[in-house]
Amino acid sequence: MSLIEFTDKGLYCPQGEFYIDPWRPVARAVITHAHSYHARAGSDHYLCHRLTKPLLELRLGPHSFQAVEWGEAVFLNGVRISLHPAGHIIGSSQIRIEYKDEVWVISGDYKTEDDGLSGKFEPIRCHTFLTESTFGLPIYNWKPQADIFSSMQNWVAGNQDRGKTSVFIAYSLGKAQRILSCLSDAADTIYVHGAVWNVHQTLVDAGIKLPPVVRVLPDMPRDLFRGQVVIAPSSAEDSAWMRRFTPLGVGVCSGWMQVRGNMRRRNADAGFALSDHADWKGLLEAISATGAERVFVTHGFQATLSRYLNEKGIWAAEVKTEYGEDEEGGEPVVAEAAAEEEASMEARTEKGIADEEAAAEEGAANTAEEAAASTAEEAGGADDGKEEGDAL
Ligand SMILES: [Zn+2]
Ligand SMILES: [Zn+2]
Repeated sequence: MSLIEFTDKGLYCPQGEFYIDPWRPVARAVITHAHSYHARAGSDHYLCHRLTKPLLELRLGPHSFQAVEWGEAVFLNGVRISLHPAGHIIGSSQIRIEYKDEVWVISGDYKTEDDGLSGKFEPIRCHTFLTESTFGLPIYNWKPQADIFSSMQNWVAGNQDRGKTSVFIAYSLGKAQRILSCLSDAADTIYVHGAVWNVHQTLVDAGIKLPPVVRVLPDMPRDLFRGQVVIAPSSAEDSAWMRRFTPLGVGVCSGWMQVRGNMRRRNADAGFALSDHADWKGLLEAISATGAERVFVTHGFQATLSRYLNEKGIWAAEVKTEYGEDEEGGEPVVAEAAAEEEASMEARTEKGIADEEAAAEEGAANTAEEAAASTAEEAGGADDGKEEGDAL
């Protein structure tokens, strides 16, 4: 019996009789973080980090929740479970599972750069590591957060010179909180969409210190927003809600913005490649730091990353999960871009290298479009309707 099995409901520990981030309702779920692909409603009991609990209450409604601190051990049928910082969003945790000298670590989503909010990613030694691979291509190579923040501030200043409002598109849980500190110095007031507001208030109530924001209300006069900053989820793009900020500039904050074509597709005026996931180098460093002899690769570019690890002599295999590509990638337009990039990666391997970014932009073959069509269908609207559907 394997310590963790891959079942149609999710990752299952038969000895401890619990699931990790199950995508169907189960009796006992251990949750890595509150993004909707990883935390679904309907299970009987949830175990999660102390700061994930209020977010689950907000998003899933009343359920039975047990909250723990990082490093605190919980035992189920002799299986030792503990949660450790994953650095992805507030409360996000890797799950360490130990039974009779065997250790597995399930990463959930993770980021290796410390953002000052989400906890510093903790490398954990284990025999088997299950990693995400959202940005598991060599073209994803993040700039330091401070550099991205200063380009965001410069962009706001440029908009202010032109009398424009700066609207940042960022998902409501994670990215929105992360960009607050840099933007609160750039404008007098930060206005937020209702979806961002709900998460913000939940976190403030849970004791997290965040810069103040003002919720956009229907009766606010339009000239209030002139030169100010607005943060909204992607569901607000091109909506009537957005038009009240005219004249405006739209800046998208997402790792996908590293590839220039994605900005064009999104109709954005500016793209900031700020991600809450590890880049290619971060993934490889995190994997290596575990010392794991086996690596399972889930949601993202799992084929590319697992092939690469095998070539480097680390046993690796893809695992099909239903996590989607997270909020940062769970949009049809982005799924399309992802499929193109994966296709271009194949082309690149055949060509044997060159200008990776150019390949990613121009490698869109017919097959990529077909793949994109089906991926887009799967990814379509999985998140937006539920958690970012607040019309304000
Ligand atoms: Zn996530
Ligand atoms: Zn994820």
